[in-house]
Amino acid sequence: MKLDAKIPSGPLAEKWERHKFDMKLVNPANKRKFDVIVVGSGLAGASASATLAELGYNVKCFCYQDSARRAHSIAAQGGINAAKNYQNDGDSVHRLFYDTIKGGDFRSREANVHRLAEVSANIIDQCVAQGVPFAREYGGHLANRSFGGAQVSRTFYARGQTGQQLLLGAYSALSRQIGLGKVQMYERTEMLDVVVSDGRAAGIVVRDMVTGKISSHSGHAVVLATGGYGNVFFLSTNAKGCNVTATFRAYKKGAAFANPCYTQIHPTCIPVSGEYQSKLTLMSESLRNDGRVWVPKNAEDCGKKPSEIPDEARDYYLERKYPSFGNLAPRDISSRSAKEACDDGRGVGPGGLGVYLDFRDSIERLGEQAVRDRYGNLFDMYERITGDNAYQTPMRIYPAVHYTMGGLWVDYHLQTTIPGLFCLGEANFSDHGANRLGASALMQGLADGYFVAPYTIGNYFASEKPAELSTDAPEFREVEEEVNDRTKKLLSIQGKRTVTSFHRELGQLVWDKCGMARNEKGLKEALKKIPELRAEFWENVNVTGTNGELNQNLEYAGRTADFLEFAEVLCHDALTREESCGGHFREEYQFTKDDPEVKSGFTGEGEAKRRDDKFAHVSAWEFKGVDKKPRLHKEKLAYEEVKMSTRSYK
Ligand SMILES: Cc1cc2nc3c(=O)[nH]c(=O)nc-3n(C[C@H](O)[C@H](O)[C@H](O)COP(=O)(O)OP(=O)(O)OC[C@H]3O[C@@H](n4cnc5c(N)ncnc54)[C@H](O)[C@@H]3O)c2cc1C
Repeated sequence: MKLDAKIPSGPLAEKWERHKFDMKLVNPANKRKFDVIVVGSGLAGASASATLAELGYNVKCFCYQDSARRAHSIAAQGGINAAKNYQNDGDSVHRLFYDTIKGGDFRSREANVHRLAEVSANIIDQCVAQGVPFAREYGGHLANRSFGGAQVSRTFYARGQTGQQLLLGAYSALSRQIGLGKVQMYERTEMLDVVVSDGRAAGIVVRDMVTGKISSHSGHAVVLATGGYGNVFFLSTNAKGCNVTATFRAYKKGAAFANPCYTQIHPTCIPVSGEYQSKLTLMSESLRNDGRVWVPKNAEDCGKKPSEIPDEARDYYLERKYPSFGNLAPRDISSRSAKEACDDGRGVGPGGLGVYLDFRDSIERLGEQAVRDRYGNLFDMYERITGDNAYQTPMRIYPAVHYTMGGLWVDYHLQTTIPGLFCLGEANFSDHGANRLGASALMQGLADGYFVAPYTIGNYFASEKPAELSTDAPEFREVEEEVNDRTKKLLSIQGKRTVTSFHRELGQLVWDKCGMARNEKGLKEALKKIPELRAEFWENVNVTGTNGELNQNLEYAGRTADFLEFAEVLCHDALTREESCGGHFREEYQFTKDDPEVKSGFTGEGEAKRRDDKFAHVSAWEFKGVDKKPRLHKEKLAYEEVKMSTRSYK
C-alpha cells in the first residue's frame, strides 16, 4: 500500500483554483455514461448525489433510514462556519484556515484545510439559494455567532437546528434529481460490502432491511459518505444507528483507515444518568457564547445548591486558565478541563461527574427573552430531559463522545487507497486533524459534497479507466456469498447474551481505556480484552428473528461485530501514537511544571504535549486479517505556510 496525498504544487492559496483547471473534464454528452454509487444521504452524501446528478451522471444513493432526510446530519444544532467576514471582525480565508490548522493541533493537511476555508463562503451562498432559513439580523443580513477555538464570529446558524435546515436544503436538491430520474434513491438499504475488481471499486453489496434480500449494484465510482463511528463507545451523542460498518468493510477490502484514535469528546453534554441509558444528549457549543462554565472552588461546596455558592467561591476555570478564549476554548481543552475539575473532587451532581453552565449573568445583562430567542429550543430540550429550568438554575454538563476525526484515508481528491472509492464527510479522516473545531463538520461535509468530489470524481472518469463490471460477474457473487454467510452465522449462534450487552461492555472498555485520557497500560489491557470479547460474541450472542423480515436485532448485531474488530484498530492507533495531540490525550505526554513552556507561562501544567519530531504524520492502517495486527503506514505532514507551535489559548 502506498500513500500518495496527490497535493498539487504551487502556492497554497492557489492550489485548488489551479488544480480545478488542471483536472480533466468529462464531455457533457459522456456524463450520462457514468454511474456513481453514493452510500449516505447526510449532508455529505445528499450534496454529492444532487450535484453529481445535476452534472449529468447517473447516481444511486443509499441510506439505512426510512427517508434520506433522516440522516444523522439533522442532529446538528449549533451552526456552520464560513469565512464571510460579515461581522467585519477580522475574519478571512486565511484566518479560518489558520484556526482550523491550530485547532486540529497541527495534525491535518495544509492544502486540504486551505481548500475547505476557500469554499466555505460558497457553501453559504448555495444554501441561501436553496432557501435554508439562516438566522438574520434585523436589517436582513445573515447573523453570526462565535464558536470555540476562534476569536471571530463566523458561525451561521438556524436556531438550534442548523443541521436539519441544511439537510432539508440538500434533500430538496436531491429530490429534484430523484424527480428527474437522475438519482435512484434506495432507503432502508444497508451497504454490507464493497466490491473491488482489478484493484478498483466496482460496486457494492446491500441488504434490503425490510425483506432481507441481498443484492448487488455496480458503478464506475463508489462514494462512501456514511458518517462517524462514535458509537463504538456505546454512549455518545450520535444517533443510535451511526456505525462503522461501511468504512470498516471497505478497510477490510483494502482502504486504509486513518487516525482512528482521534475522537472528539464534546464538553457540553447532559451527564450520564444511569446504567440503562443508551444515548447521550449534546447541549450545543453555541451555549458557551453566553453561558459561563464553573465548579465550586472547594469540594465541600459541591453538595450545595448553585444559588447558595457565592461568586467568590466559584471557579470559572476556563476563564481563569484561558483568559483570551475563556468559555470559548476549543473542545478538547474544555473537555479535559472539566475532567480535571471532576477528578479533583469538585464535580457537581450525582457521582460528581458534572460542571455548571450558567446563564445567570447573561440573563441579567441581556434579559431572559434575548437568551430565549437565541437558545429557546435547547433550554426546552434540557428541561424535558433533566426536569430543570436552566433560566433559573445552571445547566449541568459533562463531556461525551461526539465526533470522530479519524476515518478512511483519502488523498486530496477524496479518493481512498482503492481507486474509484471515494469517501466524504465525517467518514473520511477529514480536515480536522486531531481535534475538530465546532461548526466545522457541516462545513466539511458540504464542501466535500457540493464543491470537491464533483470535480475530482469527474477527473477520475476522464483520466483513468474506471471498473466496468456487470453484477453477474463472479466478483459480485463472491461478496454476496460472504455477506450471506455472515448473516447466517449471526442468526445461527443462538447464544445467551444480547447484542446490546456486548456493545455496552465494549463501549465501557473503550471509554475507560481509550476515552478522554489514555495510557500504555490501559491500552494494552484493552487490546487483550477486545479479542476475548469478540470471541465470546461469536459464540454466545443471541440474535433473534430471521433474515427475511425487518430485523433490527440482526442489523445491530452486524454493526456490533464490526465495532468489535474496529475497536482494536482504534486502540492500536492510540497506543502507537506516543504523544498527546488534540482529542488524543496520552497521560504520559503532558506538560509538567519543569517544562520551559510552563515556566514561561506560555502553557499550563497538564496540557497536551505533542512530539512533532516523531509524530507529525497521519497514521493510516492497512488490514492484515482479523486477529492480526494491522500494518501502519505514515503520511508525513509538511507545514509550509503555518509554523508548528505549541497550542496556547491563554
Ligand atoms: C448532536 C450533534 C450535534 C452536532 N452539531 C453540529 C454543529 O452544530 N455543527 C457542525 O459542524 N457539526 C455538528 N455535528 C457534527 C455533524 O452533524 C456531523 O459530523 C455531520 O452531520 C456528518 O454528516 P455526514 O453526511 O458525513 O454523515 P451523516 O449525516 O451521519 O450521514 C450518514 C449517512 O450514511 C448512511 N449510512 C451509514 N452507513 C450506511 C450503510 N452501511 N449502508 C447504507 N447507508 C449507510 C446513513 O443512512 C446516512 O444517510 C453534530 C453532531 C451531533 C451528534
